[in-house]
Amino acid sequence: MARSSGPFSSPPGSVFPDPSVLEGVTAPAFAHLPDPATLFARRAERFARLAQDHPLGPYLSFLAHIARAQHVAAERAPAPEPPDAEAVERARTHEMPPLDRSHFTSDPAFESLFDRLLSQARAIEKPEPAEAALAHMLAASEAERGEMIRNVLADSIPVEALAEHLYVAAALQVHFARLASVLDASRLVPVGDGVCPACGGPPVASVVVDWPAAAGARYCACALCGTWWNFVRVRCTACGSTGGIAYQEVEGGQGSAPGAIKAETCDACHSYAKVLYLAKDPDLDPVADDVASLGLDLKQKEGPYRRATFNPFLLGY
Ligand SMILES: [Zn+2]
Ligand SMILES: [Zn+2]
Repeated sequence: MARSSGPFSSPPGSVFPDPSVLEGVTAPAFAHLPDPATLFARRAERFARLAQDHPLGPYLSFLAHIARAQHVAAERAPAPEPPDAEAVERARTHEMPPLDRSHFTSDPAFESLFDRLLSQARAIEKPEPAEAALAHMLAASEAERGEMIRNVLADSIPVEALAEHLYVAAALQVHFARLASVLDASRLVPVGDGVCPACGGPPVASVVVDWPAAAGARYCACALCGTWWNFVRVRCTACGSTGGIAYQEVEGGQGSAPGAIKAETCDACHSYAKVLYLAKDPDLDPVADDVASLGLDLKQKEGPYRRATFNPFLLGY
């Protein structure tokens, strides 16, 4: 699989020069790193747009404000300690992701970012459970926060505290996007099906892009750090099976253009994951559109497939 090289790795979802064009290579780049300067601002815009005339309008609008708060935190909070260069190379040698989420411990930079995000969240108009959860978070002990951080990084959020974990996940997304953004995309290697090559997390969804020279290529989008990695089409992003793959969609009510979002179902592992098609709707954002297309998840509840992907904003799914 070809990999990007050089400094041209660009923010997913933005209008950027495709690295394979610049380098005269026809294969799509393996990975695109997130750009924290634009990632959350664009997501905030997308959430706000999706909130219009949508059954989940008030919640999507709340998430637009959360994404806006993430953007401000990414701009203003002190920069995190960059990943240790030797550890990054060691991880590559062992085909492991360079950002080790299982050993993450909070530090002053993260605390500062988290406090900034929580304080901004106070001013956001929000549903009652989100208000109560914020009060809980503001009063939470260090140990409680630590436990919630571990839950989010293990992709295992207890249903009784979904709203609290939403704030923790929002802070962790900013922190890990900033860490991922300083990696070298050309040094990332595949670390397994359904696993982000930067942070080891699961995807939130996958995106079929329409970029010049990579048109029709598919990328999985990390739910935590926002890295996109190349993944062949018509192949289960959870188990890697190429047999027993089918597609389902629902008509309307999702905020995106018709045919822009489908559920890719897999008969080998009985899971499904959403696929977003940029050619159908250039403004798609994996995190925002995943929440807005909840109708597709509700449809799957009737069938044999369980959701394989992770989104801390899609409460209860
Ligand atoms: Zn990641
Ligand atoms: Zn599968």
